[in-house]
Amino acid sequence: MEKKITVLPGDGIGPEIVAQAVKVLDCVAEKFGHTFTYTYADIGGCSIDRHGVPITKEAMQTCKDADSVLLGAVGGPKWDSCAPEIRPEKALLAVRKELGLFANLRPTKLFPQLSDASPLKQEIVGQGIDLLIVRELTGGVYFGEHTTTEKNGELCAVDIMPYSESEIERIGRVAFETARKRGGKLASVDKANVLDTSRLWRKTMHRLAEEYQDVTYSDILVDNTAMQLIKNPTQFDVLVTENMFGDILSDEASMLTGSIGMMPSASLSSGTLGMYEPIHGSAPDIAEQDIANPLGTILSAAMMLRYSFDMPKEADAIEAAVNRVLDDGYRTGDIMQDGCQQVGCSKMGDLVAQRIA
Ligand code: NAD
Repeated sequence: MEKKITVLPGDGIGPEIVAQAVKVLDCVAEKFGHTFTYTYADIGGCSIDRHGVPITKEAMQTCKDADSVLLGAVGGPKWDSCAPEIRPEKALLAVRKELGLFANLRPTKLFPQLSDASPLKQEIVGQGIDLLIVRELTGGVYFGEHTTTEKNGELCAVDIMPYSESEIERIGRVAFETARKRGGKLASVDKANVLDTSRLWRKTMHRLAEEYQDVTYSDILVDNTAMQLIKNPTQFDVLVTENMFGDILSDEASMLTGSIGMMPSASLSSGTLGMYEPIHGSAPDIAEQDIANPLGTILSAAMMLRYSFDMPKEADAIEAAVNRVLDDGYRTGDIMQDGCQQVGCSKMGDLVAQRIA
């Protein structure tokens, strides 16, 4: 198969970690007989420096023309004083909007080899955590009307949380389909005892559950979910939720693994085009030192193969190679343990690539 990938390395450690993911993708292409072609474009602070804007129209067009987008990270102290309309993060929101990326998939996986890194007790994390949060990304209170007015001599603020049935249905379908490809279990997170949007959410999810009889479906309130993620995280397979609940729960879940450098993510549209990136930022404190952990970005590339290119064998090969590197005792500084060998970012990329080849 031939696939066009737009690569947006971005700022800080972005270029170093993305280079490792491309190295691994090249290895997959060679082994499985595919051709991946890459178009590089600027995003974030480096784009502000070179072009005066966080993303140019041309760069946006290369994203739209691609089969998929691989992103490093954007931002850093150098651009903190930029005007709000040209801050590096503006580019991310623009890409999500222009590409219609409404579904954010965030797996939380605690590799058994790294179980010491989890802040939870061993008896709770068991043989490792493996859950996935599907978060609605373009609706809800973040995209509703926001107003602050004066009433009876004091300021009063209102944020509106709109959701339509079609918005809920399209994220619901992504979640059910994803659950089918994983462990076959889906929990829908809402606050249906209080919110109208949640009652519509639950009603729509129940209608879909009738269609997806092979998926074991349950409802769970968001406050209980926050508790259960700490008390018994291994009970979950796929969780689906609206934008703000998903924002908060996915950060909570990511901490269960104790290592932000390991965590991949995918943002999907209604077609096959998606954007894939690690969940961490540009880590300016460790940039250009060849010490960043590239595994979150490499695992994001595996998600690209699975979700945008329908290449499950190839995605499995990357995930298995990452597992083998950890089994063999190699660690970057952020996940270093006694008795293991510390390696840099580029060496970690080589080790994963070798195990695929
Ligand atoms: P961060 O995720 O960049 O870093 C937090 C801590 O984790 C740092 O100590 C860093 O060294 C470490 N870390 C992060 N990724 C790592 C990796 N792969 N390997 C080893 N250690 C790693 O968060 P921050 O410091 O709050 O933000 C830095 C910049 O990144 C800010 O400008 C912020 O706005 C931006 N940011 C961008 C994105 C994105 O591009 N999607 C997301 C979050 C933050």
